[in-house]
Amino acid sequence: MAVASYLPQTLQERSLDSECGIKGTPSSLVEVIEQRRDDEASYQSLEGRDAEIQVTAYFHIAVFANSTEDKASNEAVKAQFQLLKDTYALYGINLSLGGISREVNDTIAVLSVWTLDETENEILGSTVETEDYWKRTRTGSYETLHIYFYEDLIGTAAFCNFAKPGRPESDYYLDGCHLRINVLLGGSAPYRAYGTTLTHEVGHWFGLFHIFAGGCEGEGDYIDDTPAQTVTSADGTCPLGTKDTCPDLPGTDMVNNYMDYTADPCRDTFTPGQHSRMHNVFWAVRSGK
Ligand SMILES: [Zn+2]
Repeated sequence: MAVASYLPQTLQERSLDSECGIKGTPSSLVEVIEQRRDDEASYQSLEGRDAEIQVTAYFHIAVFANSTEDKASNEAVKAQFQLLKDTYALYGINLSLGGISREVNDTIAVLSVWTLDETENEILGSTVETEDYWKRTRTGSYETLHIYFYEDLIGTAAFCNFAKPGRPESDYYLDGCHLRINVLLGGSAPYRAYGTTLTHEVGHWFGLFHIFAGGCEGEGDYIDDTPAQTVTSADGTCPLGTKDTCPDLPGTDMVNNYMDYTADPCRDTFTPGQHSRMHNVFWAVRSGK
């Protein structure tokens, strides 16, 4: 990770909406996790489920008609994919690139209308034009990852619907990750040029919650090896081992975890518990095994 070349910026310079838009934990996924959590520690040794996960990823880029040709170019998208692939390969997940589509459409290029189910923390829909775009681009099965980049998302930098138990095939078009082009690897968003926003969003796709979920109370992110912490936004620092937002509970804030909001160059780790959880949720929810 090229931390040395990272140039901190002041808080005032950062975008106020440069974080992921997911809040909370979805009840239906929590229910599945609670049912299967007991055998998760030994999960990867369970017969038939320790195999490497194979996932095909498709990228869909929506740009303005007057955007320059090199905006989120295929070359840039392939570099972002390679980073994603190299990262997830460390956790037993083999990603392959299915394809890159490009939509030149001023309306679709701005994801400005989306409704949110605040219990399940999922996007329920958008405009007719955008839903049509999702439907005609969303191919494959529930094991197929679709990643959408837009010129702009209103109110957030990124969002990805969680793996949702029992999602009917007719609603697969709602399954995917949505990000602003400026958080693409090499993009212009403050603290978000290193491509780990996508790593974070795909973590949600595999069923991971924020490590600050629940704050200092309750079950947190439902994973045992991520210490409880509260949410703080990226300020360009990486206070590993020194920041402790739940001082009465064990451990310091895991600011280097992909599922925190820390600045991109700081995030470089999933824990063994998160590794197991991604496999567990994939087989339980996405593969149905
Ligand atoms: Zn998130």
